[in-house]
Amino acid sequence: MAKPKPLRQSLPGFVALLSYMWPYIRQHRPLIAGSFLALFAGVLMRALEPWPLKVVIDHVIIPGADGVADGWIGSLEPLTIVAGASFALILILGVRALSSYWQKVGFALVGNKVLSEVRAALYRHIQCLSLAFHSKTKSGDLLVRVIGDIGLLKDVAVTAFMPLIGSVLVLASMAGLMLWLNWKLALLVLLSAPLYWIPTLILGKRIQGVSRKQRKRESAMASTVAESIGAMQVVQTLSLEDTFSDQFGKQNQKSLKEGVQIKRLLARLQGTVQLMTGVSTAVVLFYGTVLILRGALSAGELLVFLSYLKAAFKPMQDFAKYSGRMAKASAAGERVVQLFETPPDVMDAADAQPAPSFRGAVSFDHVSYGYEEGQPVLRDICFSISPGQKVAIVGPSGAGKSSLIGLLSRLYDPTDGRVLIDDRDIRHLTLKSLRTQISVVLQDTLLFATSIAENIAFGATNSSAAAIKEAARLASIHDFIEGLPEGYATQVGERGVTLSMGQRQRIALARAALRRAPLLVLDEPTSSLDKDNRHAVLQALQEISADRTTFMITHNLSDIEHADVILHLEKGVLIESGSHAGLLAAGGAYAQLVMSEYSREDTDA
Ligand code: ADP
Repeated sequence: MAKPKPLRQSLPGFVALLSYMWPYIRQHRPLIAGSFLALFAGVLMRALEPWPLKVVIDHVIIPGADGVADGWIGSLEPLTIVAGASFALILILGVRALSSYWQKVGFALVGNKVLSEVRAALYRHIQCLSLAFHSKTKSGDLLVRVIGDIGLLKDVAVTAFMPLIGSVLVLASMAGLMLWLNWKLALLVLLSAPLYWIPTLILGKRIQGVSRKQRKRESAMASTVAESIGAMQVVQTLSLEDTFSDQFGKQNQKSLKEGVQIKRLLARLQGTVQLMTGVSTAVVLFYGTVLILRGALSAGELLVFLSYLKAAFKPMQDFAKYSGRMAKASAAGERVVQLFETPPDVMDAADAQPAPSFRGAVSFDHVSYGYEEGQPVLRDICFSISPGQKVAIVGPSGAGKSSLIGLLSRLYDPTDGRVLIDDRDIRHLTLKSLRTQISVVLQDTLLFATSIAENIAFGATNSSAAAIKEAARLASIHDFIEGLPEGYATQVGERGVTLSMGQRQRIALARAALRRAPLLVLDEPTSSLDKDNRHAVLQALQEISADRTTFMITHNLSDIEHADVILHLEKGVLIESGSHAGLLAAGGAYAQLVMSEYSREDTDA
């Protein structure tokens, strides 16, 4: 785990985050200006609060005392002064209450609006990030960033950052007024500031350290939970429940300890600040009274000093409290910025054009690709496929078959060479127009937690019920769906657990059929099925792939035999290509593969 950075070092992180938030913040300028206006009014009222009492003491209760310049107030009737002061007090408190309300509402609105927009942008960004990124990143971690970290930032911006600005302004205005009243006493008060600052800094730093640790721990906990829930079948099959529970339990325990530690440090800080306030109040009381006796200060002025000291107590304490929260937020902010700064590998080129309807001619022109630099998984691949041809991609596991079909829908771009559809480099087409024309069926179909009809219609919204049924019929799953209690409206579990592999696979085929995409890509669609299901899926496939250029990764000999073109990959190199008959006649590696497959089937039989 990385060593937590102190708050000051993470300021650049805040600045970077601000640059991502700025476009959204700008849209709310009038609201922000209004909230600041309310904030300033509130600060002014807080500074003015003890003044009516000062006036009453100096001009009514102890009139004519030394050190009081009588001025125009002195010429008024005592009762008029008291009435005026009382009215002023009501006015001051009224304005303060109103401005505090508007300030809170205003900043809460801005914070919530801006961060909700940032959250949406972050979610959009994550969806654009490459599969290579997603295969490396834990989904729990991403979840914590989008939901937890942004939530925390929102909370802190509203409940700590803005009040902190208010506190700074309050303290500054009080310091200014005190200097103006009596600079000697004011200096004494200001000199006692280190009494607050030193414990605040020391304890604040410790609070920050523990807060950051706790934040990172919470994220690790979320990762553990997401990981184990996402793979519950594996967890239960391998009896890993205890292992995960132990791991989670330990993290949970540590997080609890850290939570308690933070509360303890905060309580200590509060006590210390309280004590220090007591000490500085005593000093001011002592020296202030000396000044009054010498005639250099009025009783009302001492009252203003003392009430400022009392009022300063809360902002001081807030600093420490908020700095802990800000530290948590800076850790959260860093993680959000880090995610924003991960560039999407595949983007629309500046001159990208929407693709016209594909005929379905596909060629790879000296294509090489590697997930990591210097480690190519595909090398110098060249082939051409005519529209409507069936292509079987064969080769041992790890040969690069899935990587090859990923290049077709631009899940990643070649490091060298070009992928062409209908003689156009697909990098010059918009991603959306490319991907809507390619239907992909993977080994394991993920169904979404919604109705079967909607699951079929994913990627082809606005499809009519009749079209959905027709697609299901093509995929030989219509009768099964009709047999369900709620037919096409039947809900599917989050991972489609209520359906068998074969049924899920046929729903995926129906999805592909409905999209009517000119290109169909299948990654071992029958590998995890039993014989009966495989037969049903293959039949469905025959129907759906008619007239479409089809790429299929398969180990099934009968699929391979029926293909127009076979691409034989080994260790990222296309070692042979051609028709079944042609390759057999050539007597190369493919012929040997087929022979060994036949002899294996003979032995199996
Ligand atoms: P096949 O489909 O033939 O089994 P793949 O295309 O899946 O082969 O994999 C080819 C090579 O690329 C393998 O060595 C594999 O480890 C590597 N590979 C596959 N996916 C990734 C990924 N997301 N990140 C890094 N390496 C990968």
